[in-house]
Amino acid sequence: MTFEDFNFKPQLAQAIKEAGFREPSPVQKEAIPLILEGRDLIAQAHTGTGKTAAFGLPVLQQLSCDGSVEALVIVPTRELATQVSDEIFRFGKALSIRTATVYGGSSYTRQIQHVQSASVVVATPGRLIDLLQSGKISLSPRFVILDEADEMLDMGFLDDIKEIFTHLPESRQTLLFSATMSKEIRTLAQRILKDPATVSITGGNVTNEKIRQLFYVVDEPERDDALVRLLDYKNPDKSIIFCRMKKEVDRLRDFLAAQGYDAKGLHGDMDQRQREATIRAFKNGQAEILIATDVAARGLDVNDVSHVFNYHLPFDPESYVHRIGRTGRAGREGTAISIVSPHEFRSLQRIQKSVGSSIESRIIPRIEEVRA
Ligand code: ADP
Ligand code: MG
Repeated sequence: MTFEDFNFKPQLAQAIKEAGFREPSPVQKEAIPLILEGRDLIAQAHTGTGKTAAFGLPVLQQLSCDGSVEALVIVPTRELATQVSDEIFRFGKALSIRTATVYGGSSYTRQIQHVQSASVVVATPGRLIDLLQSGKISLSPRFVILDEADEMLDMGFLDDIKEIFTHLPESRQTLLFSATMSKEIRTLAQRILKDPATVSITGGNVTNEKIRQLFYVVDEPERDDALVRLLDYKNPDKSIIFCRMKKEVDRLRDFLAAQGYDAKGLHGDMDQRQREATIRAFKNGQAEILIATDVAARGLDVNDVSHVFNYHLPFDPESYVHRIGRTGRAGREGTAISIVSPHEFRSLQRIQKSVGSSIESRIIPRIEEVRA
């Protein structure tokens, strides 16, 4: 199956070629025809497998550009709002489709103006509710998409989502995309979708098989040394190091900077501008290492991350899946490395069992091996 089989409008087909997409990804192959048929849809697929275009392309294909907002995409974070609207803009511009982004921490007036001239709105829940409840905007989109639904629920947006749907028309096509599918998501889906089709591309295993997963056992006081040794040994082009706490992000950033690494930190206490600047620096290669908390790195789409490090294991298996999903994107290979102290063995086992793929044990390279 190729993109030509979908019979997209010529401008859209051309934009897909220009984006360098040669073949639809598995979730795109299954989801696009169902969306074109008008079905509500629940789609589950690994991170980095093209879920944005899986809904973006068939929705763009069907917009009439009648001057109203025809599609609403709800995403969990500001960063994702920007990424998703960039991806939609890249295909929509050939059809002169306008996209507006709505998120907290930036001007209301400008966002409202943009919404008034847009066909597609990409929004985070908080700001969207503000605008809907205060009557500053009203929307009757034909298409409503809940993107990264699992992250949305993890971040506590369930009530907000329910509230948003009370402001939306009954007659609509609703699409729900997620990397993982919990009971909570299914319950929510029952509420907001009508007779949905289901697409699930998991191969029984929630992680992407392009990602090699390793763990190294260290004693607690050796964690920092182990990290440095692994960075030197693996010599990653671009890596993300995950920490559990903001404090640790700052400490590690200072520690790695003192050792001469190009590292930048990303966490929720930074203001919007700092966060955007950091993500930009990381994307364009000015910084090779990003040190982040789980929340700050949600949905981050940087295609060429070669290594993900878990400085500590995350508390829950789903975060592990999200973290390692930052590498191995768009068909590339990636390596996920967890630094594990003996008291984390229990967490490791739980993760291992829950992700269903094997995390291999390795021994920290000796200093001579690193220097060699
Ligand atoms: P997900 O939402 O599933 O995590 P994204 O939609 O963010 O994944 O896509 C990951 C990356 O893959 C993006 O940079 C996107 O442009 C690229 N991509 C999507 N579909 C294709 C395709 N069919 N061929 C090549 N690259 C693709
Ligand atoms: Mg996505």
